[in-house]
Amino acid sequence: MSTPMILDGIAVAAEIKAEVAGKVNTLVERGLRPGLAVILVGSVAASEIYVRSKVKTCGELGIFSEMLTPPESVTTEELLAMVEGLNARDEIDGILIQLPLPAHVDTKRLLEAIAPEKDVDGFHPVNVGRLQSGQPGLQPCTPAGVMEMLKRRNLPVAGKNAVVIGRSDIVGKPMAMLLLNASATVTVCHSRTVDLPRYTREADILVAAIGRPGFVTADMVKPGAVLVDVGINRITNAAEVAKFFPGDAAREATFAKRGSVVVGDVDPAAFAVSSAYTPVPGGVGALTIAMLMSNTVRACELRRGKA
Ligand code: NDP
Repeated sequence: MSTPMILDGIAVAAEIKAEVAGKVNTLVERGLRPGLAVILVGSVAASEIYVRSKVKTCGELGIFSEMLTPPESVTTEELLAMVEGLNARDEIDGILIQLPLPAHVDTKRLLEAIAPEKDVDGFHPVNVGRLQSGQPGLQPCTPAGVMEMLKRRNLPVAGKNAVVIGRSDIVGKPMAMLLLNASATVTVCHSRTVDLPRYTREADILVAAIGRPGFVTADMVKPGAVLVDVGINRITNAAEVAKFFPGDAAREATFAKRGSVVVGDVDPAAFAVSSAYTPVPGGVGALTIAMLMSNTVRACELRRGKA
């Protein structure tokens, strides 16, 4: 079997970001600077890292960004008022609420309060409905990034058997809908699926969005399939590092330094069976922020950019 193609998310993200920067320049020349507001509640370390990197990328591409950091004790009503304020500000094109929110906050109500035309995460029911009915709208960043990757690396989708493992509102469901809209024959699997390998072995395109390290093993993959690994799992156990990355000195060094390494939902040993695969890290994860930037500029163009 020939060597599989590595689908380098960092390279694809750089292409997307360069295009977004070009669009920002054009808008700025017309006096329109795209703006993104990010609400970060409390101090969850992982969320802080994500938000910081979103704000940094905005700066690199010339997008105005604003961070609102209410304390953990903030109420749903106070957050709703914050969102209403952002909805009303013309220079804010995108509003993002970093999830997860504290348990006492009504996340659903809050996401529904964002003006659909500013919903750069694509989670508002109006945008979910637009995606479902194949109308243009703002689409969830991670699955939209996967589609961009497939398109830019000339991997055909129409007519292929696509299997998505995972049915979350954030990844699995919108991923399945995007693949369906691109004319794949789509099967969605989840924790109640009986005999999962029966489905995965039929997949020309297999998307894993589960949240379980190395869940998809080589025997579950059709030879020559395209493997898209959305999972981001931190492993902190030396035996697991040795199991997933045997003889990988770089990973061992990272583990020795940081006490953890990241592995996807696909066992790295399965990549050899594929024709193309997204590595973890450096695959799908790298695309999410690039697509957020792209959505912010798109929201600006759609709402304010009409000549
Ligand atoms: P969720 O926990 O919301 O959903 C996981 C899905 O996997 C569920 O639909 C669940 O099924 C299914 N699942 C769990 N166990 C099994 C099993 N044994 N067999 C089959 N299906 C199973 O996770 P997310 O969708 O939010 O995220 C999935 C992964 O993607 C995580 O690792 C996350 O970190 C990563 N992620 C990466 C992003 C990126 O930028 N690259 C962005 C977002 C997420 P059921 O519905 O039946 O419970």
